[in-house]
Amino acid sequence: MSSGVRGESSKAAEGRPFLQFTMGSQVYLDHNATTPVDPRVREAMRPYLEGAFGNPSAAHAMGREAKAALEGARETVAELLGTADKDEVVFVSSGTEADNLALAGAALAYQERGRHIITSAVEHSAILETCAALEKWGFSVTYLPVDGEGMLDPEELRRAIQPDTIVISVMHGNNETGVLFPLEEVGAILRERGILFHTDAIQSFGKIPVNVRHLKIDLLSLSAHKIYGPKGVGALYVRRGVRLQPLLQGGGQERGRRAGTENIPGIVGVAEAARLMFLEMPGEQERLRQLRDRLEATILERVDGVRVSGRNSPRLVHTSNFSFDGIEAQTLVAALDLEGIAVSAGSACHVGSVQPSHVLRAMGLSREQVEGSIRFSLGRLTCDGDIDRIVEILPQLVARLREKVPVVK
Ligand SMILES: *Cc1c(COP(=O)(O)O)cnc(C)c1O
Repeated sequence: MSSGVRGESSKAAEGRPFLQFTMGSQVYLDHNATTPVDPRVREAMRPYLEGAFGNPSAAHAMGREAKAALEGARETVAELLGTADKDEVVFVSSGTEADNLALAGAALAYQERGRHIITSAVEHSAILETCAALEKWGFSVTYLPVDGEGMLDPEELRRAIQPDTIVISVMHGNNETGVLFPLEEVGAILRERGILFHTDAIQSFGKIPVNVRHLKIDLLSLSAHKIYGPKGVGALYVRRGVRLQPLLQGGGQERGRRAGTENIPGIVGVAEAARLMFLEMPGEQERLRQLRDRLEATILERVDGVRVSGRNSPRLVHTSNFSFDGIEAQTLVAALDLEGIAVSAGSACHVGSVQPSHVLRAMGLSREQVEGSIRFSLGRLTCDGDIDRIVEILPQLVARLREKVPVVK
């Protein structure tokens, strides 16, 4: 059986214009969970895994070399976010850490002003679990609902604001449905009131333009491994003047906001990954839109009793969340896996446990619909042939599952 990414070959580049991996007959449709490291990113990182191993805090040539790489990466990320001030970028160990530092760091730094936080019911667990911890520490949190299309109502947000609201965190693109929240409207509401605005842009960054100045964002999280960079590195944009209580104490790196010797190869990797995403954005997004539209149109045509969540909302182009009546998504995921097709049921972010998606529940789907939902997330590895395969196999598998014919032995 084929499994996973096996290295590069020229033949495998066919139909996969941006990434040259051979996947065997494997179809990978789980890009929202993680992506492979782009070979060009790996090459950019390589010197810093080999001879250029200096500590950027060191006062010698090797230290200066590492420091130059660090500051160059910071400048690249700052520029892509729409700010000329590179000191507004803090490198961290993951998207999860960026979310924790933003929300807990801001809540703890501004608690003398108030202890109320606003977020949405459909955030990633990195935000929701941070909110749960903050509630234990005496903060109160309002979880904004979404409508049946997964959309947030800015008016609802306006009404949730209290005199002691200090920070609000609403995501940009949803990792389960791709639905995009109206950040521009949120930013306009908050800035005039002096409430901090954080957004988890981990799914949208590099896929659509995200300009922190235009959107009036104070804090923004991003992660390398969702954009063909390495795992275990991310960044937090922190607008100049915004105070954060650091979560790690130590050597004062990252201007005291994140102690610990910097992960130079990873940081070089996230900057190069981001640069490539922006460079290839227009063509790649259009390519994925066409693949996604064909996938959705064909499945909706060939299968009865299926809906696509958030289809009528503005969405990222690479995410399709299907709910099939009368099937167990877990069984369908396992059956697709046997066919060499990798997809996710609900959220993949709860290690080892299958929890019904809180995102789809918040959108008003019934328990049965939620349990019959699977997410296809497309990306650079996705080619026309993958969509051909899935639209051929999926209707048969769904039909067999509905007839209760075993599809997994
Ligand atoms: C993946 C993801 C995270 C977590 O990022 P890690 O780098 O895996 O810790 C947070 N939020 C969203 C929306 C994500 O997709």
